[in-house]
Amino acid sequence: MMARSGRVGVLALQGDVREHTAMLGRLGADVVPVRRPEELATVAGLVIPGGESSVIDKLTRMFGLAEPIRRAIREGMPMFGTCAGLIMLADRLVDAIDGQQTFGGLDVTVRRNAFGRQVDSFEGPVAVPSLGPRPVHAAFIRGPVVESVGPDASVLASLDDGSVVAVEQGSLLGISFHPEISGEPRFHERFLQRVAEREAVVGL
Ligand code: GLN
Repeated sequence: MMARSGRVGVLALQGDVREHTAMLGRLGADVVPVRRPEELATVAGLVIPGGESSVIDKLTRMFGLAEPIRRAIREGMPMFGTCAGLIMLADRLVDAIDGQQTFGGLDVTVRRNAFGRQVDSFEGPVAVPSLGPRPVHAAFIRGPVVESVGPDASVLASLDDGSVVAVEQGSLLGISFHPEISGEPRFHERFLQRVAEREAVVGL
């Protein structure tokens, strides 16, 4: 099967697949669930949802999707990871479970479950200057924090205490929180824009 112009996928093995699918649909995207390599081959961009990164890691390996996703990242396919999805896109992890792997692609070190127990989940406004002057309403649910950012990645947002919670590198976007749950569309719009830009370059 060939990639269809404008079609995007949501990695649909575990996590908040439905919320991402609904958000992308509201923005007019042609969106399909991705569970198999043949489905990955039909999309021009991939969202990696929030959920539990160690489970997403195990299932993608079990379903033969981990290597195809790594290859797609190397070839420049736009991807957008939220929370566990950010963890999956990180080159380096702190507090991973034994043997936990990521796809990588973002030159960052991410710490899992980085907020303390009492405040492991919270909501609030976060300034994201590259999305415009209006802050993003962010929902954090046992989210990770980006502990260090290598020279190839750039910071899109950090909290008042300096914790980095959104990063970008080329066509990869990773954030610690859940705009698909809080109803914030601008990150998904940015992802769809990257998909359109990439398609213009590769001539899909
Ligand atoms: N704590 C989860 C993990 O380590 C991420 C939580 C989330 O995606 N909401 O994968």
